[in-house]
Amino acid sequence: MRDQKPTLHITDALETVVADLCGRLPAFAHIDPRRLLLCAARARRDGAGGTYARIIPLRFPDGTPFRTHNGQRYALPQIPTEHGDVLYLIYVYLPRFFAQPLERRVLTLIHELYHIAPAFDGTIRKCGARAHGGSRASFNARLEPLVEAYLAGDNIPARDILAADFADLARRYTLIGRALAVPKAVRLPSEPGTAELHSAATGPTRRARLPMP
Ligand SMILES: [Zn+2]
Repeated sequence: MRDQKPTLHITDALETVVADLCGRLPAFAHIDPRRLLLCAARARRDGAGGTYARIIPLRFPDGTPFRTHNGQRYALPQIPTEHGDVLYLIYVYLPRFFAQPLERRVLTLIHELYHIAPAFDGTIRKCGARAHGGSRASFNARLEPLVEAYLAGDNIPARDILAADFADLARRYTLIGRALAVPKAVRLPSEPGTAELHSAATGPTRRARLPMP
């Protein structure tokens, strides 16, 4: 008889850590973690280097889900929750995320959270002309004290998962997680009546009908 391994929802576990980071670190007091979704993405290759995580904003830079480009209206798909629309998706590349030391795993999550605009409006924080201001290294150096402060805290939820060896987790558990294709802007019809569609699109029913790729 085969052993039934328990199930571990890996993105839920990491989402718990993200919510805890937002709750403990004053730098993230503006973030409502209930309006973030953590998703798993498959890394194309393992090993050092490459991307560990990325954040996808669900608003255009003007803070709305709509944009006109060459006379054509586009909308970003919205994910309604009882706490408001999801504003950001954080994709964690697995298993690469776990190939880093614990401090770098925490830094990876803090790095993505720091990209969230201080207004928490579904846009990305502006750091000069480039996403990381001067350089990724200087961006991360600024965040290292946050990593230290966080790891010095007691009772970090899901710390055992956060600190675990991925292969070991996979041995002990059936790993499941949230996987979601990166949302892409969809074209809106441009006939008369578009204005009504836009206002209707702010209701949960209409939003739910926007296709998720
Ligand atoms: Zn970044």
